[in-house]
Amino acid sequence: MPVPFLDVRLQDKTRTEIVSLITGLIDRAAFIGGVEVEGFTKEFGAYCGGTCVPVANGTDALILTLRALDIGPGDEVITVPFTFIATAEAIGNVGATVRFIDVDPATYNMDVRQLEKAIGSKTKAIMPVHLFGQPADMDAILDIAKRRNLKVIEDACQAHGAEYKGRRVGALGDAACFSFYPTKNLGGMGDGGAIVTSSPELAAKIAQIADHGRVDRYRHAVEGVNSRLDSFQAAALRVKLRELPARNERRRQIAARYNLGLAGHKSVTTPRVAPFATSVFHIYCIESDRRDALMEHLKGLGIGCGVYYPIPLHLQPAYEKLGLKKGSFPASERASERVLALPMFPEMTDAQANEVIAAVKSFT
Ligand SMILES: *Cc1c(COP(=O)(O)O)cnc(C)c1O
Repeated sequence: MPVPFLDVRLQDKTRTEIVSLITGLIDRAAFIGGVEVEGFTKEFGAYCGGTCVPVANGTDALILTLRALDIGPGDEVITVPFTFIATAEAIGNVGATVRFIDVDPATYNMDVRQLEKAIGSKTKAIMPVHLFGQPADMDAILDIAKRRNLKVIEDACQAHGAEYKGRRVGALGDAACFSFYPTKNLGGMGDGGAIVTSSPELAAKIAQIADHGRVDRYRHAVEGVNSRLDSFQAAALRVKLRELPARNERRRQIAARYNLGLAGHKSVTTPRVAPFATSVFHIYCIESDRRDALMEHLKGLGIGCGVYYPIPLHLQPAYEKLGLKKGSFPASERASERVLALPMFPEMTDAQANEVIAAVKSFT
């Protein structure tokens, strides 16, 4: 029985509800702003415990947050090379410079032991990524940031609903950035994103930049951009936000089944979740010395799998300018050679998960 890597098709009940909401929006020609966008903004803010600003996508969320924090040319932002390019790209897009530090080999999140020595006179902010749905060690990061007067921007694009010491990501640092790309834990039917912050002033500043720097209809305080969440996406996301807690719980159940089924299997390591973290398993990654052969084996059996991420950012042509050679970040490089993501989506059945476990175990 083949098992897909993921399946983002809507379930019948959700589909019916979203289609009827969108039909209503079409009938009223309510495409921009309106009740759905306002409702989602309130509800997602409340869910994360902060003030929400909806934007066009997760990359914009990161860029607009950096801009609103006045980070730009001449400034440095510390982040990790084992992530999706958008994290670092946002820093470059505001004219600031990326300063990479390595990840922890167990959790793939920012190795806080390397943070202090990477901070220099130009450092303005730290951008931890809650990779694969697991929160980074926020207290350690926030403690250093406070002492060194730095901003902390969470890249929470893979971690909707994840918890750090029982607190939901989103309002832990100065701001958290989310993506609603269809494959994310909370995914729309196209692009979408949001910022959540505990500072109403910062939220207002981000919202202003995202809306052409507008003060009112005809007056513009600064040059901004156009970055908004459209009403169709907001309508779909409102419905799906209600289902998010149950869907994240189901992901954890599947992860637990995988962990148990693969425990003690010599050739693979199952994901390590730090004691302070509750992961929402955006991605479930195992590690193997023979990752590429294992991937071929699984694909041959019809089991969907993928590599996140095969090339760490410092080795991408886009970051050649930083002059960072192979060997600069051993944990990120080792992870990029060893990780393999297994099928993970809430609709997956226990039988499908068992099939995946059996397929991994049959690799010799
Ligand atoms: C998806 C993602 C983003 C960007 O989100 P988009 O909505 O695609 O722009 C940023 N950072 C990380 C870690 C992501 O996974």
